[in-house]
Amino acid sequence: MKIDIVTLFPDMFLGPFQESIIKRAQDRGLLEIGLHQLRDFTTDRHRTVDDTPYGGGAGMLMKPEPIAAAITSVRRNNPDAKVVLLSPQGEPLSQQLAQEFSAMPGLILICGRYEGVDERVRTTLCDYTVSIGDYVLSGGELAAMVVVDTVTRLLPGALGSSHSAADDSFSDGLLEYPQYTRPVVFNDLAVPEVLLSGNHAEIARWRRQESLVATARTRPDLLKTARLSDKDRSYLSRMEERGQ
Ligand code: SAM
Repeated sequence: MKIDIVTLFPDMFLGPFQESIIKRAQDRGLLEIGLHQLRDFTTDRHRTVDDTPYGGGAGMLMKPEPIAAAITSVRRNNPDAKVVLLSPQGEPLSQQLAQEFSAMPGLILICGRYEGVDERVRTTLCDYTVSIGDYVLSGGELAAMVVVDTVTRLLPGALGSSHSAADDSFSDGLLEYPQYTRPVVFNDLAVPEVLLSGNHAEIARWRRQESLVATARTRPDLLKTARLSDKDRSYLSRMEERGQ
């Protein structure tokens, strides 16, 4: 997969993209990342990328022409890529959307700055507008890193054989069950007995129930859309009856 990122601050990406899973995915040829300085696509002497908003108001907006030129140029080497504008006004990034992105041949991520981006960029140049949460960042760079990270771990082979993204939170619509490692007792708390039993069926049952408990406690909204079996539903009803 090829991901191109159009930004005013390409150096921000150097550390995060040279470590861990994202680095390994690049080394293994699963992921190619291109960083593009937006100012390289300006035509004036001052390399201007922003201007004042029509109608007045505080701050500056990113001009559409350099972004359009950047997309045209980057597309030459990433022809089937979908263009994603990072914006707090976008659709929320979810595991489902990350899965959709990970199946695509390429992405072009556009990072906003200042007060944002001329609306015509979103309406005429972008396939998706994506927000990473209900808060405002200073720029789209951190949001782009979040998209790259979550998409990369879904690329086949990116995590290696020891981990499967299918077990992670949200993959089946629920939060993940609690996990424990050595020591058996820490801060006077012992690892749940069942996890030491070696009984894989019992462990799977316990994990499923704990997933339901964790989700019901902190993200009950997820239960409305999660894939639940009859057993899951009756476990949740029993939980409710017990007032848990
Ligand atoms: N004035 C804009 C608004 O209120 O919606 C906020 C602009 S923000 C200071 C500058 C840039 O940061 C945005 O254009 C966008 O690219 C990025 N950004 C900020 N928050 C974001 C979020 N939650 N998700 C994705 N991108 C975000």
